[in-house]
Amino acid sequence: MEPAGKCAVVTGGNSGLGRATAQWLEAVGADVISLDLSGEAPEGVRFIACDVSDFAAVEAAVAAIEGPIHILANCAGIGGIGPIATAEGPGDMAAFRHVVEVNLLGAAHATAAVATRMIGNAPEGEDGERGVIINACSIASFEGQEGMGAYTASKAGLAGLTLVWARDLSRHGIRVNGIAPGFMATPMVAMLPDDFVAELLGDAEFPKRAGRPDEFAEVVDFVIHTPLLNGEVIRLDAATRPPARTKWSMD
Ligand code: NAD
Repeated sequence: MEPAGKCAVVTGGNSGLGRATAQWLEAVGADVISLDLSGEAPEGVRFIACDVSDFAAVEAAVAAIEGPIHILANCAGIGGIGPIATAEGPGDMAAFRHVVEVNLLGAAHATAAVATRMIGNAPEGEDGERGVIINACSIASFEGQEGMGAYTASKAGLAGLTLVWARDLSRHGIRVNGIAPGFMATPMVAMLPDDFVAELLGDAEFPKRAGRPDEFAEVVDFVIHTPLLNGEVIRLDAATRPPARTKWSMD
């Protein structure tokens, strides 16, 4: 699909990977809307305040967008860390639930609301394509480290749903793919101590550096432009395979 002149919705479009994606799509001529909790959208991008964990709010936000929507990037997300149980007692189940509600149900809410709109689009091109959806997964979709239960539940779920949603929506000419980044330099990870970041980056093969948000946006662009790519989760991680635990988590 050619994004120029299309309407693209980016959840979490005010920060980090979503922001870079919104900026990229705006720069190539798309009409971009950021659905985010707070903050400011990039220049040229419309902002609709919305908590993706609230389906009614997502439906209202999507209803406020006029006309066809062709692209959805599910980038809204939060971190979260904590063991499932310790000698002191069970892990924080309210925190666990919140991470899953934002990262997993949030993406499901946006996909349900936007895909409903996409189904009404006129088919385009030789394949009759109507829309493209991209999920921000994670290397934790595949190798969750110690203490990353809630985040891993949300991201493994999202990776698994990528193929299911591709299957659900194939009859309507809508493709669904995921991108699974390793460590990316965004506000989400900015508070991590330098020695911890150095350890995480040490798990990468090559290059041993943090990814940049624009590198994520470039893969989004590739996915949008590549019709045969469907139901796939693409790792963007410099061949990082995280070990069970970090020195930090053993402290
Ligand atoms: P970020 O914190 O910079 O941006 C996340 C955005 O999501 C923020 O604008 C935030 O306001 C928004 N958001 C959070 N909760 C929301 C809610 N309930 N409703 C609407 N918006 C909400 O983070 P990022 O690093 O850019 O992460 C983007 C996505 O990429 C996340 O899903 C994250 O899990 C994933 N990811 C990040 C990394 C990384 O290393 N940074 C690695 C793998 C995957």
